[in-house]
Amino acid sequence: GLPEGPLGVDFKDVVFSYDEDQPTIDNLTMTLKPGEVLGLLGRTGSGKSTIARLLLRFYDPQSGVIALSGTDIRSCKLADLRKRVALVTQNIEIIQGTIRDNLTFYDASIRDEQIIAVLHELGLGAWYEAMPEGLDTGLASGGSSLSAGEAQLLAFARVFLTNPGLVIMDEASSRLDPLTEQRMEKAVSKLLTERSCIMIAHRLATVQRADHIVILDGGRVLESGRREVL
Ligand code: ATP
Ligand code: MG
Repeated sequence: GLPEGPLGVDFKDVVFSYDEDQPTIDNLTMTLKPGEVLGLLGRTGSGKSTIARLLLRFYDPQSGVIALSGTDIRSCKLADLRKRVALVTQNIEIIQGTIRDNLTFYDASIRDEQIIAVLHELGLGAWYEAMPEGLDTGLASGGSSLSAGEAQLLAFARVFLTNPGLVIMDEASSRLDPLTEQRMEKAVSKLLTERSCIMIAHRLATVQRADHIVILDGGRVLESGRREVL
């Protein structure tokens, strides 16, 4: 299985295409050391989100190897992999179930007090207090009852509670009002302390915290290096 703590990430000669034509990920090699933050940039369609999907094994590459802390992800149990790697996107997936179910994914070892503490910490205290049945309140599947900001903060709550070793944020902070943005910033700082992170963005300015930057173009590394030198 995967080790505890921050995970390292290695892509080695990874080739992937959704269909038979032009590869979407074209012989990609890149490395992220445990605990580091990688800023993954590139224009629309360059393959950024595809990298996230490959890491979670929604798809497997046609060739090459993706490893987490030295373990080929194809040899991991899917459930283990998806517990240790969290994906935060603009469209958080809300499942038909209670707030508790949505935040713990049915992990009964996560206590209610922990959940409530995290909600308060993220600035969702008032939102939570207004829920008629507390953690037993049902959420509509698809998250139609949530604002974009609430949904995003809930995604963060989920990350804190399930404690992954790698967090992938796919343009996670756009579309938010300033207050939510500020709460997110705080949450992200805390989140990054004991984890590795891949921050996907369009602009360099969005990834201030990145130790290392990779710029993708057509599924290939166009440039990579420390943030300061790009
Ligand atoms: P954006 O910045 O707009 O989010 P991205 O860099 O995340 O773009 P991807 O979503 O990784 O880009 O898509 C890379 C390429 O793969 C695009 O050309 C896209 O059209 C194509 N693609 C994405 N998903 C699929 C799919 N499910 N089936 C076929 N092609 C796809
Ligand atoms: Mg994308």
